[in-house]
Amino acid sequence: MKALVKTKPEAGLSLMNCPNPKPASSEVVVRVKATSLCGTDAHIYNWDEWASHRLQLPRIIGHEMCGEIVEAGSDVSSVKVGDFVAAESHLTCGTCFQCRTCQAHVCKNYRILGIDFDGSYAEYVALPERLLWKTNPAIPPEYACLQEPLGNAVDAALVEDVTGHTLLVNGCGPTGLFAIAISRISGASQILATDISEYRLNLARQLGADQVFNAKTLSPDDIGKAVLDMTGGDGVDAALEMSGHPDALHLAFRTVKNGGRVTLFGIPTGQVCFDLPNEIIFKGIRVDGVTGRRLFSTWYRLAGLFKAGLNIRPVVTHTISMNDFAKGFELVNSGQCGKVVMFPGGT
Ligand code: ZN
Repeated sequence: MKALVKTKPEAGLSLMNCPNPKPASSEVVVRVKATSLCGTDAHIYNWDEWASHRLQLPRIIGHEMCGEIVEAGSDVSSVKVGDFVAAESHLTCGTCFQCRTCQAHVCKNYRILGIDFDGSYAEYVALPERLLWKTNPAIPPEYACLQEPLGNAVDAALVEDVTGHTLLVNGCGPTGLFAIAISRISGASQILATDISEYRLNLARQLGADQVFNAKTLSPDDIGKAVLDMTGGDGVDAALEMSGHPDALHLAFRTVKNGGRVTLFGIPTGQVCFDLPNEIIFKGIRVDGVTGRRLFSTWYRLAGLFKAGLNIRPVVTHTISMNDFAKGFELVNSGQCGKVVMFPGGT
């Protein structure tokens, strides 16, 4: 089969022929129909500091996927050949404190598809049965492959109720865009969004943001004042920080109302200094760190949101064949895209 492999400790990936995977008794082999490019994959593609410490090579990367089961191991019972599936990317240990107390999303020993074992940037991938998520075949592959990153957005947006609430979303990359769409359909009253890319702010409008602010042309002070003006001077009920930029982090704490919540998902590159008394303690706010997805409650919740009419189509701005992977990563690095989806079997 053809696969994209990280072979050397340097930027780039190699498109090469690899042996087809064989399923262990508790695994299936899936023919990958669509697999999307994630920020994590870009870190690996660019071979930054984090990637160089995290990966052992060679590795077929990719972890956002969907496809059809073509072979099943002897112990597999919940799915069968021909089923359309997506996959949770975190393989949890099942025995640590977190796994045994309904917090498997922060398992101490989890292994990740496309990082710790071979991933979905390939024509075929072997997957443990317990990672599989049976998916409605009516959902086109270019959207079905996005359920894994959508789960992050479900967790970030809905860690608390948003119905009738005002929200600020800082950072309109794919997860921020998903969070806007999810908040909208969940009944948020007003959604404000910031980013430094006009391209992404346009997508934010399409997904339901009421007002967008370009943080490249407006100062944090200007945006902060505008957000307070638009919320009757109180600030927003919830701020979702999806960018990791220090200015955006402080903006979130500054514009959330007393007693509100700040949800942190974007990852800063270094340490960030806070004025704890004024930004957090005296405001009496709640701060949530969100990593991965609640297993598997966010998957069930997302299936319900799709049934309710969640529309994430505008987020998929580019579809490419696997041969064009370099073009795909150029797009992700440039920020001039929503989600880029690859078809390993060709477009
Ligand atoms: Zn565990």
